[in-house]
Amino acid sequence: MSPGALIMVGTPIGNLGDLAPRAIEALASADAVACEDTRRTGRLLAHIGVRAPVLIVMNDHTESEVIGRIITRLEAGERVAVVSDAGMPGISDPGERLVAAVSARGLRVEVVPGPSAAVTALVGSGLPAGRFVFEGFLPRKGSGRTERLRELATETRTVLLYEAPHRLARTLADLAAGCGPERQVVFARELTKLHEEFWRGTLAEAILRCEDVEPRGEYVLVLAGADAVGPVGDADLLEALRREREAGASTRDAVATVAQRFGAAHRHVYSLATDARA
Ligand code: SAM
Repeated sequence: MSPGALIMVGTPIGNLGDLAPRAIEALASADAVACEDTRRTGRLLAHIGVRAPVLIVMNDHTESEVIGRIITRLEAGERVAVVSDAGMPGISDPGERLVAAVSARGLRVEVVPGPSAAVTALVGSGLPAGRFVFEGFLPRKGSGRTERLRELATETRTVLLYEAPHRLARTLADLAAGCGPERQVVFARELTKLHEEFWRGTLAEAILRCEDVEPRGEYVLVLAGADAVGPVGDADLLEALRREREAGASTRDAVATVAQRFGAAHRHVYSLATDARA
């Protein structure tokens, strides 16, 4: 009997062209596919011409109960693929507990990587990607939320947050209260879709933006780390501005580059640049 395997398969976060050949192969050869929504995954399978194998519904409510059934299949030598509605399963989506249980049984786990909104947002944000922290969705209320917001106020790494459009304004207000209104933030919206957008500004500007343009679609918030505006002093900013200008950048471009690189307020860097010129 061939050994069974659990295959965690990444699927597109919007653009179906991002479905990898290996993902198609994994889905086509699976004996069963665990998914959040059978209709949605059914459409994906139909799109790639895969006749629906056994579909197992796995969401936050059913994951614990489904784990036993999947382990039985794996022990019988089956290949069970796992997908979520979008992106990587296990990332703010079901899958983590299943992988832990399957690997604890000594059964094989494979991953077919695909897009994830968090990493896609980080790469397009232009904020430091050398060290970052993924926070997923903040708790909606209570001490869990307060505690998390308090931690973010001093977090020095770039922070990635998922948020629903109708809760965006409230989350931005809470972040501004904790991190200060000058902290740099990027909205990475509708990634890989028709209306993909990267909007950049301070938290204060982001709050105004939400008042002007009603948030719609899917958002990742990429928040600059605390030290990007803290320990970085004006001398660092001036030095970086000087180097940009020496390299041939206009004042305007130099200010934009330096503000973004250090996560500093655009207005502040601009005033340093104009003072220095005077
Ligand atoms: N498993 C997914 C992943 O790997 O990114 C995340 C699933 S989570 C339930 C859904 C959240 O991810 C959305 O509320 C949004 O914050 C973010 N998201 C998913 N697709 C997105 C996209 N195309 N553009 C921006 N954010 C997206």
